[in-house]
Amino acid sequence: MSQSIDNIETGYTLFKQDEYQDMMAKKRELFEEGHSSEKVKEVFEWTTTEEYKELNFARKQLTINPAKACQPLGSVLCALGFENTLPYVHGSQGCVAYFRTYFNRHFKEPVACVSDSMTEDAAVFGGQKNMFDGLQNALALYKPDAIAVSTTCMAEVIGDDLNAFIGNAKKEGYIPEDLPTPFTHTPSFVGSHVTGWDGMFEGMARYFTLKDMDNKTVGSNGKINIVPGFETYLGNYRVIHRMMQEMDVDYSLLCDPSEVLDTPADGEYRMYSGGTPLDEVRDAPNAITTILLQPDQLVKTKKFVEGTWKQEVPKLEIPMGLDYTDSFLMTVSELTGKPISPSLEKERGRFVDMMTDSHTWLHGKSFSIYGDPDYLLGLTKFLQELGCEVKHILCNNGNKRWSKKMAALCAQEPGTENAEVHFGKDLWHFRSLVLTDKPDFMIGNSYAKFIQADTKAKGDEFEVPLIRLGFPIFDRHHLHRNTTLGYEGGMTMLTTLVNAVLEKLDADSMDLGKTDFGFDLVR
Ligand code: SF4
Repeated sequence: MSQSIDNIETGYTLFKQDEYQDMMAKKRELFEEGHSSEKVKEVFEWTTTEEYKELNFARKQLTINPAKACQPLGSVLCALGFENTLPYVHGSQGCVAYFRTYFNRHFKEPVACVSDSMTEDAAVFGGQKNMFDGLQNALALYKPDAIAVSTTCMAEVIGDDLNAFIGNAKKEGYIPEDLPTPFTHTPSFVGSHVTGWDGMFEGMARYFTLKDMDNKTVGSNGKINIVPGFETYLGNYRVIHRMMQEMDVDYSLLCDPSEVLDTPADGEYRMYSGGTPLDEVRDAPNAITTILLQPDQLVKTKKFVEGTWKQEVPKLEIPMGLDYTDSFLMTVSELTGKPISPSLEKERGRFVDMMTDSHTWLHGKSFSIYGDPDYLLGLTKFLQELGCEVKHILCNNGNKRWSKKMAALCAQEPGTENAEVHFGKDLWHFRSLVLTDKPDFMIGNSYAKFIQADTKAKGDEFEVPLIRLGFPIFDRHHLHRNTTLGYEGGMTMLTTLVNAVLEKLDADSMDLGKTDFGFDLVR
């Protein structure tokens, strides 16, 4: 009974004990003044209906679980991808605690990011004093080569000017004049984490190249630049390096946090590790061109690359699945004159072989999916290649332009031509979609586990299993180390998808003497 020193139980098993069950039942009965369980069930059932869906979609003034994170979180991830660079957020301490815990929970790693902890007085008088002290302390304590500054809503609402504040901090000697301090304003009442990533990248590019464009010539260093965008699969950074190295291409991956977010446990704490050298950013305008791996999300970056670096950004999509990876590699080959390596040709062949092997299980399976704009375009394309059907595609941080592009893509294949595309909608909308138009599976981040629970609560026949692909994934370990881009990423995603189908089939055919005529050893 209860907790004992000889047998310490986790909360899950502990609270199953009668003592706790009785206590919780009494608490509900005596203090919570809740509705009867019949009433709760009745309302729950109503929230699963078409009638409720229509009311839900008429909702205007409230967002419930938005399926996006805020701008500075994206800026922090971008800053982490540069060598010895400290992400610094001008604004409230609580916001920064949220960014760090979000990343800690996803990457299972400590994440270095400082805040200048603005409080009420700064909200009234402005945050310049916080910034002076914050920059000085951050440099003294953490000794970065660069401090990359973004903002929280509080600093934006009162209109703090980063350019002026950082300039004043240098003028008044809080930090040296020559300390690199790229910055971006990241008001989170607009945009999302992908906007913040884009803003910080443009801030880095601006800081390190804008004033030094006179001695730059497009193509003079013979390299191509590759900009990943908001990318949380560490394998994706690694697969880009591998593919470029196998093709013997000279390249710069502009932003790579794959080391600092995956440091070994060898007794040494690394606050900084890996990352793109700042000199590579300085040299970036000399490259042949810059390839954007998430082009729909890198609006400011594209404008800067084309307008200031004078490079022509190739029209490509995220290199996910077969076709988009082919286009990426062929473009790299055309730009650099390097042939696609035999190793990658072989890898492609293996990938096609895997797609063929699994085709019978995936063909015709239906999915409802949500996530970020470019990822959803890549995923939909890949699902088309696998012969899958897509019912609903929801992108909170998409826009009209994205939605048109997605609709055009869906129209190309019979399995997706009836797909409904939703942008600006949240996970409570997604719940209604899944409950009223049941797909075989949904694909999303960890938050959809609650939607799976609701589908199951409606009845076993309504349950929609969640396949975890995206960000954040808090409730499964190490998936962030996977790869989703290139042929290698396609193999990983295919394995995930087909095995989810087979797991479900096993679960549905496991009842002895009832359904086990389909419980086969070989699939
Ligand atoms: S939305 Fe604004 S207030 Fe909320 S965590 Fe992000 S920056 Fe802070």
